[in-house]
Amino acid sequence: MTAGGVPWRNGGRAGTYQPRRIERPTSVGAVQRAVMAAVASGLHIKAVGSGHSSSGISAAPGVQLDLHDMGGLIDVDAAAQRVRVGAGTLLCQLNSLLAPRGMSLPHVGDIGRQTVAGALSTGTHGTGSVHRGLSSHVAALTLVTADGSLLRVSGTENADLFPAVCLGLGALGIIVDVTLQCVPPGLLHVVKQGEMLTEVLEGFSGRVRGSDHFAFSWLPHTGLAMTTASTQVSPEGRPEPRGRMARFIGDELMENGVKMLTSGIGAVVPAFAPQINRITARVSGGRDYTEAVTRVLASSRRVRVQEMEYALPLAAVPSAFVEVHTLIERRGWRISFPLRVRTAAAETAWLSPSGGRESGHIAIPWSAREDSSEYFRAVEAILRAHGGRPHWGKIHQQDAVSLARMYPHFDDFLAVRERLDPERSFGNPYLARVLGP
Ligand SMILES: Cc1cc2nc3c(=O)[nH]c(=O)nc-3n(C[C@H](O)[C@H](O)[C@H](O)COP(=O)(O)OP(=O)(O)OC[C@H]3O[C@@H](n4cnc5c(N)ncnc54)[C@H](O)[C@@H]3O)c2cc1C
Repeated sequence: MTAGGVPWRNGGRAGTYQPRRIERPTSVGAVQRAVMAAVASGLHIKAVGSGHSSSGISAAPGVQLDLHDMGGLIDVDAAAQRVRVGAGTLLCQLNSLLAPRGMSLPHVGDIGRQTVAGALSTGTHGTGSVHRGLSSHVAALTLVTADGSLLRVSGTENADLFPAVCLGLGALGIIVDVTLQCVPPGLLHVVKQGEMLTEVLEGFSGRVRGSDHFAFSWLPHTGLAMTTASTQVSPEGRPEPRGRMARFIGDELMENGVKMLTSGIGAVVPAFAPQINRITARVSGGRDYTEAVTRVLASSRRVRVQEMEYALPLAAVPSAFVEVHTLIERRGWRISFPLRVRTAAAETAWLSPSGGRESGHIAIPWSAREDSSEYFRAVEAILRAHGGRPHWGKIHQQDAVSLARMYPHFDDFLAVRERLDPERSFGNPYLARVLGP
């Protein structure tokens, strides 16, 4: 255990707080004892993953539990392609644990630095019209509840709780282990190219269905969209990976170098943002390669951003996007960060932003060093008007009243919270705002 004292900052630098104490348990028993001690002394207790959420969801002003020492494989069921892992396992570690066992996650988000428990608790997702987020691959999990007891939840054990706890915002207890349904490792053929934004939006629904994982980014102040269409190929196929230089240019230079440049110069001299974006669009030209799913979909992101992201009904994406585009041009803002669109199949978790409907996720990043409020509020109004629901781990302005209107099972979730944590021992200011007191 360590005393508090070092202010904790979350991923987007959107908030700081000072935990009263930080504990780093190494066993399930130690987590149970930490919960019981915190509750007995009237302190809130919260597990924090890698702190990559840029909303205040992981703020732990009472006792902060760091579960990074509770990572790694616990059980492997090779026949069922299932693994049970510690809650603190990083997604990137998980990929390397699965590969030698002939397994893989079906797909992943952008980076691998999140913990399994943190990622599933906020609805972390990748892209693809038939693909769902990490919480949809949970077969079972074990929670330490507010009275310190262990609760196993799966499709057959306490199954009525399953749609709440597999995407629980950290509000229902401390997850200590997670059983994930995996798939055989796959290869993806990837085509990245620059296209006209208008054409991508006009053909959006066909493009989404035309590959396994479709996504695009639009660099504001240009007419260009950078599209990525990835399609699963036979696992017996031969990888045709990028060379080291192409990988460096694709992942390092495009993901990090250009963003550092755009966020640096664009932030200091906003008037340069349109020119920088046009040059970026020109140099990010066509690429085509075949690599392992996990290698293709996750990259290193070292540019710190704050981000808002909304999941819209898939069919609403093109019109919402055009409105956002028009807003940016009309207001004369100089935006240096690309807006990104990804997709997801309908999910069953009660608080999944993609719950019950095929969705398109529109992500709006902004420099972590600058005030985003005017930009985010105006864009958020558009995305809300198109039926959008916010990403739980990213910035948004919604509260329990507005969220209750977005989620048909919102009250069911609150009933589970009342049952598992009536004293709000796992609460924090963010959860009080989005779920109510
Ligand atoms: C660079 C970057 C890239 C990203 N890419 C994507 C992406 O591609 N797709 C996407 O959807 N999101 C993405 N995100 C958002 C990110 O995946 C989520 O915010 C995720 O929750 C972060 O995981 P974490 O381990 O950092 O969790 P934290 O941010 O630390 O915590 C998130 C929540 O999980 C809870 N929690 C953590 N551990 C436990 C536990 N053991 N038991 C109970 N609750 C727990 C916390 O209390 C909190 O409520 C990205 C964020 C960044 C910074």
